[in-house]
Amino acid sequence: LFVCFEGGDGAGKSTQVRLLAAALERAGRQVLVTRQPGGTPLGAQIRELVLHGDHVSPRAEALLFAADKAHHVDELIRPALAGGRVVITDRYTDSSIAYQGAGRDLGADEIRQLQHWAVGGLFPDLTVLLDVSPDVGRSRRGEVHDRLESEADDFHAAVRQGFLDLAAREPDRYLVVDAGLPADQIHRRVLARLGPILGA
Ligand code: C5P
Repeated sequence: LFVCFEGGDGAGKSTQVRLLAAALERAGRQVLVTRQPGGTPLGAQIRELVLHGDHVSPRAEALLFAADKAHHVDELIRPALAGGRVVITDRYTDSSIAYQGAGRDLGADEIRQLQHWAVGGLFPDLTVLLDVSPDVGRSRRGEVHDRLESEADDFHAAVRQGFLDLAAREPDRYLVVDAGLPADQIHRRVLARLGPILGA
């Protein structure tokens, strides 16, 4: 089982990742929790380069994030799934389509093709989109930590719309939840949606 959490900065993804991992472990599952960018040592270096470098051109940014993903999938995610573990990732391909495709305006279709190639066609069984407005995202983020978080509200609004468009394209793979709800309510919705998949 492969589950991904997506959403804008400040959506509360890491809290939900933690809650789901704990629930699955209590149910006796072996779980790998990971994140993008930065789920491997090479990925951590790429994360540092892209998020804390002075300037990275939009296409270079897209390729570096794609390289992080390719390595992450080959080294960590595929082996874990093959070993019967549940994989939960904080961000995956849809972040790239939303941030670089919609936010940077590089074109969702081109970024989708790049992502497809990078991950060798491996996509989550379920993607939970924590839908967050730029206002709420900004207040939750608090201080700006990286280059992308410091983008203006219209960038974050384009990213949000990019995520919503992706969810509308593939409703079977998506659960969209209002990120403004209390964390325990969001968690219950995620478990309810995963119930049938887990039973399979
Ligand atoms: O969620 P996390 O803090 O790990 O994300 C790191 C940063 O990378 C965020 O600011 C996010 O906006 C950005 N990002 C991106 N494109 C991706 C993945 C993450 O711009 N494909």
